[in-house]
Parts: sequence; structure tokens; C-alpha cells
Amino acid sequence: MDADFDAIVVGAGPAGSVAAYSLAVAGLNVLMIERGTAPGSKNVTGGRLYAHALERVIPGFAGEAPLERLVTRETITFLTDESAVSVDVASDKLLKTPSYTVLRAEFDAWLAARAEAAGATLVTSIRADEPILEGGKVVGVRCGEDSMGASVVIAADGANSLIAQKAGLRRELDPSEMATGVKCVLELPRGVIEERFNLDEGGGAAHLYVGECTKGMPGGGFLYTNKESLSIGLVVQAAALARSPHRLVDLVEDFRLHPRLGALVKDGRLVEYSAHLIPEAGLAGMASPVADGLLVVGDAAGLVLNTGYTLRGMDFAMASGAAAAEAVIEAAKVGNFSKAGLGSYVDKLNRSFVMRDLRTFKKAPRFLHNKRIYSDYPGLVEDVATHVFAVDGSPRLPLRKVAARAVGAHGGLRQLAKDGWRGMTSL
Ligand SMILES: Cc1cc2nc3c(=O)[nH]c(=O)nc-3n(C[C@H](O)[C@H](O)[C@H](O)COP(=O)(O)OP(=O)(O)OC[C@H]3O[C@@H](n4cnc5c(N)ncnc54)[C@H](O)[C@@H]3O)c2cc1C
Repeated sequence: MDADFDAIVVGAGPAGSVAAYSLAVAGLNVLMIERGTAPGSKNVTGGRLYAHALERVIPGFAGEAPLERLVTRETITFLTDESAVSVDVASDKLLKTPSYTVLRAEFDAWLAARAEAAGATLVTSIRADEPILEGGKVVGVRCGEDSMGASVVIAADGANSLIAQKAGLRRELDPSEMATGVKCVLELPRGVIEERFNLDEGGGAAHLYVGECTKGMPGGGFLYTNKESLSIGLVVQAAALARSPHRLVDLVEDFRLHPRLGALVKDGRLVEYSAHLIPEAGLAGMASPVADGLLVVGDAAGLVLNTGYTLRGMDFAMASGAAAAEAVIEAAKVGNFSKAGLGSYVDKLNRSFVMRDLRTFKKAPRFLHNKRIYSDYPGLVEDVATHVFAVDGSPRLPLRKVAARAVGAHGGLRQLAKDGWRGMTSL
């Protein structure tokens, strides 16, 4: 089949748009195919973008991108059915490694428009159904009745990548390796958000929750401040959710109505509700990233890292999209789009934070399957914290005794020591 384009990028999420942008800047003839009516229309994210990866591709992007708020406060909260114990971090040091809250409909549309402005062609409302293979090499994609040819295809089609699966580069992930994410956007006036979350003008808060919000299932909750709305939602292991009697829609409603969250989200008008899968297996769930004529990037390749205290997919998606584009540009110089010719993609991933962090935290997915983190330990933290602050004139116990009693009531010291050790060596 003739190559109509130098490259076809399937999917206009962060991975695909960064790849298309980088290829177009280098002067390659790029087609980007998006199944949604517009980039971002089908995309879900909790909403926190770690800026470093995009800053390398588009320096100073924060000055023009539709970002919501610069995160200036980080809070992690252990929730039981009625209590909350939080660690709240507000420090200028957080600003040295900036992260922003984003709403994907606006953000993805902006990033794809940047790729178009650089020369890429974007077509929307078209689904790429499968890669076209000739002699074992990917030479294009089939979209319904249409076939389009290219020297190389970049699969940036997200967590359920048809292209990577049909090319045989990715096994089907088990439900224990996937999480289901759900997000609501609640509209609130700007000033109300800043007052409730104790923020300076334009500053943003990132809250993560562990415990009751997932009814003891592996996962967690999040609450991010946007300019004039809040993004609130849950990420729950798909296998545990399927086995449980709970429906995600009820879980997120209970979370929103939790007595310790009520005051933060009160009167928020629901303007968006969405759900999406997250490949959370880390290194073990990664697709083979390269084949003859094909590269796989972002969620399509399983490049997501959840450590419990950070959930990162967008910076991995963008860094992998940029690395794939660099590999294609090198391959184009010598006209070799075979697996070997595109192989520098793997070297670039290996040298970047993408593979380094996935390797460093390779034990994290398994550790985070431990239900005690979500069912026992929030109660343990609550017992210690509430006892420490309760003064009524009766004789006080020293902290070591308070802690020993709480540990005894929540699984015992042996179990805690084992889990603590596993946590220290996994996270
Ligand atoms: C609830 C939730 C919270 C999250 N929170 C965060 C967070 O706070 N920070 C963070 O960094 N990450 C977060 N993530 C993960 C992050 O959203 C993803 O890792 C990231 O969006 C991956 O980018 P991508 O470009 O690889 O894939 P996607 O963003 O999924 O983009 C894929 C694109 O391809 C299109 N597409 C799919 N199939 C086809 C096809 N066959 N043909 C044409 N187009 C197709 C889709 O419509 C989509 O536009 C969260 C995810 C969820 C679900």
C-alpha cells in the first residue's frame, strides 16, 4: 500500500498530540485520527498535570495553555466512615516542580491545535479499527471502509488500544491490573473555592483520600480545585469493584456526601460526569512498545504509575509521545521504519524518567492491592490521632502506649511491621 503520510497518529490525547506536534515541527507529513467529535471530548483525568514533560516539548507552555490552577497545597487524608486525618503540605518548595489542575476538554483541544498549527492534519469523529499489515509490517490503518497508508503508525489510542492489541503487542490486562476511574465536575464560584480551600488567588489544592471512600477496596479518592469548579472522583481496582456489591455511581455519591467533605463541596452544581479505565499494572502490564512500522505510546503502552500518593499518566504519555516522535525522525533520515530502525524509541524510554520510575516502583501495584491499607490503617491513624488530642483531665497514656493499643486493635504489630516493610520497599 502507498504511504499517504509519513506518520499516522491514532488518538489525540496528550500522547498523540505531543507525538504529532513534534513530528510536524520536524517537517514530517502527519495525520492524527481522533474518534471523539473533538480532542478531549472522550477523555477523563483526575485533573493534575505534572508540568515537566510538556515543558521539555513546548517551553513556557504554561503561559498559553488553558490550565486551571497551579497546585500550591497538597493534602493526603485517611478517611473512616466519619473521621478524617490529614497531612497538609503548603510550601514554596512545591512550586519548584510545578503541577497544574486541568480540564481535559479544553486542555486536549489546545494541545491538538498546537499540533495542527505546527502542520499536522487532524481528523475527528473517525475510529481507527485496526492496523494494516503487509509482510508483517504495519503500513497503515483501517477506519471502517477507508484505508490510509503511512511509513509509520503511532498508537496513542489510550487504555483500550485496539491498534496495540490487534498488532499483537499487548496482552489483555486482567481486571486486577486495571482501575476504573470516575470523575464529577462541580461548579462553584472562584472566591468560594479559594476561601474554602484556604488558597491565594489562582492557587490550587490537590487532595487525595484513602480508606472509607472506596469501602475498603484498593483505590482512592481525589478532589482538585479548578478555576471555577472542583474535580472530585474515585479510582477503584476493577476486579475488586466487580466482586463488590457497590456501584461506582453510588460510591462517588457517598464520597461526595462524606461528612468531612460536605463543607468543601457544598452547593457545587454537577456539570460533568465521566468514567474511564486506567491500566495500573506498571512495568508488568507494559506493551511491547515497537514493531515493524508501529510505535505504542502513553496509556496504549500501559505507561501509568500509581504510587497511592501520586497518579501519573499524562506526563508519561507526553514523554513517550515525544520519544516516539524523535525515534521516527531518526528513522526517516535513513528511511528505515523496521523494528530495528525505530528501536531508538526503546533506548529513549529507558533513559528517561518513564522507565526509570516504572522500574523504581515496580512493586507498587502489588503492594497497593493490600486491602488493609484501605480498611484497617485509616482506623488505626484515627485512633492514635483522636486519642492524642483528647484531654479531659483523666490520666494520659504516653504515645507509645496509645500507638500499641491502636496497633493491637487493627491487625497487630507483626502484620503492621510486615506491611510497613513492604510499603518501604515498594513506594
Ligand atoms: C479518573 C482518572 C483520574 C486520573 N488522574 C490523573 C492525574 O491526576 N494525573 C495524571 O497524570 N494522570 C491521571 N490519569 C491518567 C491519565 O488520564 C492518562 O494516563 C492519560 O490521559 C493518558 O494519555 P493518552 O494520550 O495515552 O491516552 P488518552 O488520554 O486516553 O487519549 C487517547 C485518545 O485516543 C482516542 N482514541 C481511542 N481509541 C481510538 C481509535 N480506535 N481511533 C481513534 N481515536 C481513538 C481517544 O478518544 C482519546 O482522545 C487519570 C485517569 C483517570 C481515568
